[in-house]
Amino acid sequence: MLERNQTRTKIVATLGPASATEARIRDMVRSGVDAFRLNMSHGSNEERRRWIRILYRLRRELERPVAVFADLRGPRLRLGRFPGPRRLKRGQILELRPVAEAAAAEPWLPVDYDGLGRDLEPGHRILLRDGRLELVVEEAGRRRIRARVRRGGEILSSQGVNLPDSRVSAPILGPKDLEDIRFAAEAGLDYLALSFVRSAADIAVLRAEMEACDYAAPVIAKIEHPEAVRNLDEILEAADAVMVARGDLAVEMGHEVVPTVQKRIISRAIERATPVITATQMLETMIENSTPTRAEVSDVANAVLDGSDAVMLSGETAVGAWPLQAVRTMHRIVQRTEAELFRHSSRLPGFLFHREDEGPTTVEKALMDGAVEAARRCGARLLLAFTESGRSAKLLSSFRSKRPLIGVTSDPRSFHRMALYWGVRPALIGRFRSVHEMNRKAASLLGRVRWLKPDDLVVAFTGTFAVSGATNTVRILTLSDLAEAARD
Ligand code: PEP
Repeated sequence: MLERNQTRTKIVATLGPASATEARIRDMVRSGVDAFRLNMSHGSNEERRRWIRILYRLRRELERPVAVFADLRGPRLRLGRFPGPRRLKRGQILELRPVAEAAAAEPWLPVDYDGLGRDLEPGHRILLRDGRLELVVEEAGRRRIRARVRRGGEILSSQGVNLPDSRVSAPILGPKDLEDIRFAAEAGLDYLALSFVRSAADIAVLRAEMEACDYAAPVIAKIEHPEAVRNLDEILEAADAVMVARGDLAVEMGHEVVPTVQKRIISRAIERATPVITATQMLETMIENSTPTRAEVSDVANAVLDGSDAVMLSGETAVGAWPLQAVRTMHRIVQRTEAELFRHSSRLPGFLFHREDEGPTTVEKALMDGAVEAARRCGARLLLAFTESGRSAKLLSSFRSKRPLIGVTSDPRSFHRMALYWGVRPALIGRFRSVHEMNRKAASLLGRVRWLKPDDLVVAFTGTFAVSGATNTVRILTLSDLAEAARD
């Protein structure tokens, strides 16, 4: 806990058959994974229950903050089920039907979405298999659609379907999502991610469903739909975190759009202190190979330089042949990139770019901004945030200071949730009844950290006791002063 050389940018790994043994998960955590994603689009709940038991047991045993979240499928359209692979040839005219399943003899293709005929119009594109295959609609009836194959290839049951030219009218949550919300609530998962969010209203619908289950986890909005990019500001306001879900974003908007949209989402998220995960195909070739391509290494490094709170592995850890190597590779890239970056700068440069024309702000942010600068100028060793909900650690994290930031809480939920925040090293102290007792527990915790010396300066942030959203006190003191104050 609180190791010296922890990276600031966090790593998320997707669990799947390739990674979900106890030994593998333990190795992945030890190799730098801070959060695990359970993709609700694949696998069974029975399997997930077993993984969650392992994860909860391990994080207790290792005494490490590890966030676990479910990723809801949302209005993601998929092919229905049909036997075997099917090959579609260029120029072929194909019938599609909005049904969940087709038998072997059927010449038509099932799409598991009953609004298909309603949302499509002649000329609209239908993309299959992450955009590798492209069909163009020739006729759109309510129950059957005729389309011409413009780019052919092989398809399998349940693969993704994207309609980049259509306004998909599917409700944000389907029956499976409602079941999955109940599952996440029962398991007490730390976050809940939602695919294909289009607006703040979608997040409100999710929160209402969560509330009905008495479940108050923070929500991660996946930005992968053109409408979400258009409504980015309201989504950043409504969500607790966002994910740049580059796979579908590229299919929906075109690959060439993704790098700049990624930068825009990340910088706006940092401005609003909304944690942001950059995801998908980061080390894709490591699904099959033990080493990445140079382009993939650059992609991870650039996501770090953009200021992502976390970078995510998907198929690499879920179904790949080298899950642990993928985590270690990602960790090494993050470590090296941050080391080089902070050799020349005390804050992330991209972040400074956004502070240049800063206008009026809240008392809390102004105080933090000044204190982070004071920490640099007086050579303080670390930032220390007393934060029950994790909120002030999240806000402080958005200043992207190279100084280690310890988020002290007595709430185990906040302890694990903070694992996702850039630069925050969560620390769990036992319940306390007064500020004095809180200081004593923090002093005793820091006293056990080997890389800290008694005369190291600490910049400590506290708020009005037990009130979330009111960090109004900064103290700059040595570790021994902190311990001394706690003795009085
Ligand atoms: C994506 O499309 O980039 C993504 C993260 O979503 P999923 O992995 O659920 O397809």
